[in-house]
Amino acid sequence: MADHTHHAADVPQLALNSGYDIPQLGYGTFKVESAQAEKFVLEALQLGYRHIDTAALYGNEEGVGAAIRASGIPREELFVTTKLWNDRQSGDQPRQSLQESLDRLGLEYVDLFLIHWPAPANGQFVNAWKQLISLGDTDTVRSIGVSNFLVEHLEQLHAETGRLPAVDQIELHPRHQQREVVQWCQERGIRIEAWGPLGQGKYDIAEIPAIRDAAAAHGKTPAQVVLRWHIQNGNIVFPKSVNSSRIRENLEIFDFELSDAQIAQIDALDPGDGSGRVGHDPRTAN
Ligand code: NAD
Repeated sequence: MADHTHHAADVPQLALNSGYDIPQLGYGTFKVESAQAEKFVLEALQLGYRHIDTAALYGNEEGVGAAIRASGIPREELFVTTKLWNDRQSGDQPRQSLQESLDRLGLEYVDLFLIHWPAPANGQFVNAWKQLISLGDTDTVRSIGVSNFLVEHLEQLHAETGRLPAVDQIELHPRHQQREVVQWCQERGIRIEAWGPLGQGKYDIAEIPAIRDAAAAHGKTPAQVVLRWHIQNGNIVFPKSVNSSRIRENLEIFDFELSDAQIAQIDALDPGDGSGRVGHDPRTAN
């Protein structure tokens, strides 16, 4: 029999413009292969995570689905996101790609379906968005959104369809804070999901004095301070780890609060010239 002794952790729910709620903290699965995902997503669910972020690109939807079934947690208590890869944006490929993702996940619906990148050189993201809008009217998708969209891409979606996404999932961490797109989204009720919330480990957050000092002051780790900074700034996060103690640690961020001064010191860590970015540039990635 499934283990029902575990409980959902004390994670805030944020309202989306679709009318659905999203848990503000989840578990990310980029670079987690399918067999690993089966093990660590189950572990995350048993610890109290209820929100899982995957993508067709990650090649782990089968493992994610197996973990969900093994958890025994009722489907309606979970929030599952997947994403449309760039080579499936044209024609009715988005519809087919979603069905393939649902089949791999073993789910009837996803809570959130995202266009993974605008890939503007392909000229297909508005078509993909129209397809997602029509999928949003079916019972296979609850909310629709985008990822890695900059203001110019969001403005084009809005101009051509009149419909805004529920979320924009963008690279966002202390050294790359994307203030322009964040402000544009905040003014229009679009939630920000921060990918790479810890900078993907590509710079050492523990060596940054503002983060190190706040961690010492609260008896928390540097990762917990950075995740807490995201939460207090209103971002949705889903840090990735395949280390059991870190998976637990990343969930234990709801029992302390950073001061306004501590938040401001982390807000000040973006060099302001784009040099803090660790991933691809959405204008050229495809
Ligand atoms: P992340 O910032 O979550 O960094 C993950 C790395 O941080 C891990 O490999 C680990 O080395 C380290 N880490 C995790 N917990 C730690 C802890 N407590 N202490 C110290 N180190 C710790 O980066 P990510 O995985 O790229 O981003 C999170 C999720 O966002 C992904 O798993 C994926 O679901 C999503 N994502 C989306 C896109 C996109 O284009 N939409 C791109 C990248 C990631």
